[in-house]
Formats: sequence, structure tokens, C-alpha cells
Amino acid sequence: MNRPKKQEFKFPTHIDEYPTGPQYKAGFLPEINAGWRSVRPVIDHEACVFCLRCYLLCPDGTILKENGKIEFDMDYCKGCGVCAHECPTDAIKMVKE
Ligand code: SF4
Ligand code: SF4
Repeated sequence: MNRPKKQEFKFPTHIDEYPTGPQYKAGFLPEINAGWRSVRPVIDHEACVFCLRCYLLCPDGTILKENGKIEFDMDYCKGCGVCAHECPTDAIKMVKE
């Protein structure tokens, strides 16, 4: 499965290499989290019912299904809190970095 990962940015050298919209291809990150995240998600595995709502809604695809448990790839989590907001059992809390 394609997950976010750091890829070297190659500057376009020809007009054909420019993206056609205001976005770039999915899964392209020029850098890992540079330290600007102020809060991060912490999960209570006892409260998690593994509904995968957080997994589906994380805008950065940084939630992992690891051996039947939810984990976070903190290299790319931006601390937006969508996962915590959408969790039906409040299993995810946002804590200060
Ligand atoms: S949304 Fe909450 S209950 Fe559902 S998988 Fe994520 S952490 Fe678990
Ligand atoms: S805080 Fe945002 S980026 Fe980080 S895992 Fe939750 S939804 Fe994804």
C-alpha cells in the first residue's frame, strides 16, 4: 500500500512536467514533520473498537493498522486532530508535544 513517504523533489525542467492543478500527486511529501506540530494523537487501545473511522479520515494517511491495532506514523502526522474528533469512542486524545 502506498503511504506518505519522503521523496526528493525534482524541479520541472519542461512545461509538461508541471502539475496541471493547484495540487501535487498524492503521497508526495518533500519533508517529514519539521517540528511545528504542537499536539499529537495518543490512543487508548482499550477504548478502541477498531472501526477504522480515524484510518479512513486522516487527511495525511498517517494512521496504520498494526497487528489489529491503530498506530500513528508520527513522521507525517500534522496534529490536526481530525482522528480524535471523529473517533466514536473518544479513544484518541490530543496531547501537547
Ligand atoms: S476511530 Fe476510534 S475506535 Fe475507530 S479505529 Fe480509530 S481509534 Fe479506534
Ligand atoms: S492528528 Fe491529523 S494527521 Fe495526525 S493522525 Fe490524526 S487525523 Fe492524521
